[in-house]
Amino acid sequence: MIQEQLELLRSEIPDNVTLIAVSKTKPLSDLQAAYDAGQRHFGENKVQEMVEKAAQLPKDTHWHLIGHLQSNKVKYMAGFVHLIHGVDSLKLLQEIDKQAQKAGRIQDVLLQFHIAQEETKFGLELQEANEILESKAFKQLKCIRICGVMGMASFTSDVQQIANEFQGLKKVFETLKGQYFADATYFKEISMGMSGDYPIAIQNGSTMVRVGSKIFGGR
Ligand SMILES: *Cc1c(COP(=O)(O)O)cnc(C)c1O
Repeated sequence: MIQEQLELLRSEIPDNVTLIAVSKTKPLSDLQAAYDAGQRHFGENKVQEMVEKAAQLPKDTHWHLIGHLQSNKVKYMAGFVHLIHGVDSLKLLQEIDKQAQKAGRIQDVLLQFHIAQEETKFGLELQEANEILESKAFKQLKCIRICGVMGMASFTSDVQQIANEFQGLKKVFETLKGQYFADATYFKEISMGMSGDYPIAIQNGSTMVRVGSKIFGGR
């Protein structure tokens, strides 16, 4: 089942888009089945759960923290996390930088933007991102690499609205690229698209899709 779903997804997703298997709440046996089917990128939304699973899967697994992150949890994953998707404050960047430095690593992160109409979703506005990126405090950080942007579309059946929101995130990416990262080859990721909307995300420039229930079943 997991293997078949992965094969189906891989046949649909272009080679330049990374498929992140979102395994939150799922047992280790499910992750192992996906790993055995060749999957290497996994996404979790809780640090503790990711740390426990990472200890049990082979070391060539790439772990993505996709959920909202509290500063006091950064230290538990600083030694191994591949990419942190949900960064939306200077304070968090400073803590990630501090812990990455201790771990002797450069930490790759994405800035999360608020693109949905719903009030509840986390994320920055472009103006806030500008303030962070232009601040002296940000320029002092040594162990952070901002690799792109992440966002979640509204939970709606209105395909046009979802497409508009993803286009908005692509625009944010291009604005930041032009303004701050024109020469940075590592600034290239647009993390958008989940089980319900990944085809729309890919049509609108996604480079990373975060797919859970379509691979592992409902939660
Ligand atoms: C749970 C989650 C996903 C995956 O959701 P599915 O609908 O199961 O594919 C993607 N991104 C984030 C941030 C999530 O929390």
